[in-house]
Amino acid sequence: MLKIRRRRPALSASKRIVFTLFQPATLALIVLFWARAPASLLDQAWLVTAISIATLVMVQALEFVNERHAGWRQNRRELLTDLFYVILYFAVISTLETKLAEEPLAAAKHALGITTDWTLHLPFVAQVAFALFVMEFGQYWLHRLMHNSFLWWTHAPHHHLTQLNAAKGLVGNPLELFLVSLSVIAVFDLPLNAVFCAYNLTGAISAFAHANVRFYTPRWYRYFFTTVEPHSLHHTVGFAETRCNYANAMILIDRMFGTFREGEAAVVGQEERKRLLISQQFMFPLRPLLAAIKGSRDKSASTSG
Ligand SMILES: [Zn+2]
Ligand SMILES: [Zn+2]
Repeated sequence: MLKIRRRRPALSASKRIVFTLFQPATLALIVLFWARAPASLLDQAWLVTAISIATLVMVQALEFVNERHAGWRQNRRELLTDLFYVILYFAVISTLETKLAEEPLAAAKHALGITTDWTLHLPFVAQVAFALFVMEFGQYWLHRLMHNSFLWWTHAPHHHLTQLNAAKGLVGNPLELFLVSLSVIAVFDLPLNAVFCAYNLTGAISAFAHANVRFYTPRWYRYFFTTVEPHSLHHTVGFAETRCNYANAMILIDRMFGTFREGEAAVVGQEERKRLLISQQFMFPLRPLLAAIKGSRDKSASTSG
């Protein structure tokens, strides 16, 4: 009897330590990896994708070890949807972003002779922090605009999710996924390993912020980085209540602009909490147009009748 009593608290204490340190340790490992990456690896853009996907799989697996809500448990239907969006994002959306936005922006910078030598002389960690801040600053304002304009129709499918899991940050309307992947980072002179590191960090933090995992996050980490508590509150059911905690990875930006709200939500979704099919997520931005056509048809039918 005594032995059992002694062993149980020891196990939960070690689990608590692991789930306290997991998020900061993952970010530290990503920074260390890119800080020491040999130059030969910097030609391999696929490595960024491979690390992002490996991080997603690892965070999803943690759901089996320390689940947050039974109602968010990954099932076959959710897994297939998540897989579809992971492939869509890394095979199509990120390629489109590179070809349609990043490369033209880099070409324009070159043609106009824009240089930012000072960013090249920063220490590696400061370069990564700068890249992360630039990406997050743009994402924050675009996301905030989506909650306060017609762009909501592209972002709403992400909010109709009825449960959160590691890859849910990549689930939404493709137009929205493309828009939020845009950034002006190509304007700045930064070494590739710092930019790749920032991409992997935002991917890892977004996976943590959507994961069905109970972390015991240190206070200092929660101050700077987005975690599942404020992000689940952002996914809460009432539309008005979603207008907070916009930052994808750096919750610090919400604190800076007064949109941070403490708390969390276990029940997520919109309206009747009806889960959307992939086809409905794709067609969602057309809803106001289809409603207007239906309205004018109904009106002409009633006047002719
Ligand atoms: Zn949102
Ligand atoms: Zn989200």
